[in-house]
Amino acid sequence: MSSGSHLFALVDGNSFYASCEIAFQPKLARRPVVVLSNNDGCIVAANAVAKSLGEQWMRQRGSLGSGGYRSAVPTNMMFQPYFKIKPLLDRYQAAVFSSNYELYADMSSRMHRLVGHFAPRQEIYSIDESFLDLSGLSHLDLTDYGLQIKQTVQQGIGIPVAVGIAQTKTLAKLANHLAKKQLSQQGVFDLTQFKDETLNALLAQVGVEKIWGIGRQLSKQLKQDHIQTVYDLKIANSKRIRKRYGVVVERTLRELNGESCLALESVRANKQQIICSRSFGIAVQSYQEMESAVVNYVCRAAEKLRQQQSVCNFVTVWVTTNPFDDKRPVYRNQQTIGLIYPSDNSSLLTKLVKRALKQIWVPGLSYQKAGVILSEIATKGALQEDIFAPNPTYSGNPKQAKLMALMDQLNLTSGKNTLFLAAAGMPDKQGWQMKRDLMSPRYTTCWDELLTVR
Ligand SMILES: [Mg+2]
Repeated sequence: MSSGSHLFALVDGNSFYASCEIAFQPKLARRPVVVLSNNDGCIVAANAVAKSLGEQWMRQRGSLGSGGYRSAVPTNMMFQPYFKIKPLLDRYQAAVFSSNYELYADMSSRMHRLVGHFAPRQEIYSIDESFLDLSGLSHLDLTDYGLQIKQTVQQGIGIPVAVGIAQTKTLAKLANHLAKKQLSQQGVFDLTQFKDETLNALLAQVGVEKIWGIGRQLSKQLKQDHIQTVYDLKIANSKRIRKRYGVVVERTLRELNGESCLALESVRANKQQIICSRSFGIAVQSYQEMESAVVNYVCRAAEKLRQQQSVCNFVTVWVTTNPFDDKRPVYRNQQTIGLIYPSDNSSLLTKLVKRALKQIWVPGLSYQKAGVILSEIATKGALQEDIFAPNPTYSGNPKQAKLMALMDQLNLTSGKNTLFLAAAGMPDKQGWQMKRDLMSPRYTTCWDELLTVR
């Protein structure tokens, strides 16, 4: 392996939502624990105990199924409707939770903060994943360093994480996958420690579909081309790959070979998160100025969201003072707020951003940079609407959708302030808090109805 100057770690929470619940009720750790989505009652997270239970069960069903069409039976319980799995979960006394997104968002922000201490630069990739730039730390025992990260998060907030370390982000993602699979590694896997032959033998055991960015469709095509494993893609002819699959897959191939092509916070197509951040020309000291900056950022980010026909589940605001000012200590903080229903609405997101900023603002400091991150991005309309509890948020409201379209139009023709002013001036008749109070009881009632109907 080349001794590239880059070094990345990917830190990823294990079964994050389930782990958040277990962190507050450690007794549950030995029992199956699952978390359900709010809208459609699917299983969105399961701890290892529940997963293995589900796998056994799926296998049995597969082999007992008529005609032996095993492939028609899902191999795990993730995203399966709850009612299908409920008998199994009941039999094994599983703990079942509906999503508590505010808790998860809060745990997420704590986790990212703890992890962020281990490197000068961090990219928050999703609610439970962040990349660290460890370049310059190659003199350390990296497995040891990874264990330190893992222990810090475990002790700090009780969440188990896996740490993958490698020369490129793609390899770090893969290392993280291996860290989770190979129990002997204690949840830390450093790919830089291996000689080429050892590494290649390892990569030859991992299916090509496990590579970051290689989706199900693409891996099908690759497999038809006899590229079955990660190793197969690694040694494929890069020109041929580029011609047949495009530059993105070619870049992946290069990354598999240890050539770092993706920097932290790189821009991706249909991004899993949208980031809008900027360093201030002159340090910001007033709250009003800071608020107007982050509101501007969130409006721009929401516009991007709508352009790609997506909705987000979380909004994060972060602020920092100048990290290179050696006279004053650095203040860095962030706050993430989870949406009850995913949204693309500037007005709603603006409210959340203002609320998040209030929680992290410390007066009397000179802020150098701030940013907004929209994360857990999903395609609009891909989420099944709950027929018993219609989506009460702005994005589900046709009038609001029209308004957003109009604002985007205006923004195109009349400049950014138009969008900002319209969004900030929305009347606040139905506060977010109110909707949430309404939703919880309805969710339970309607869920019972749903079960009875089925
Ligand atoms: Mg995870």
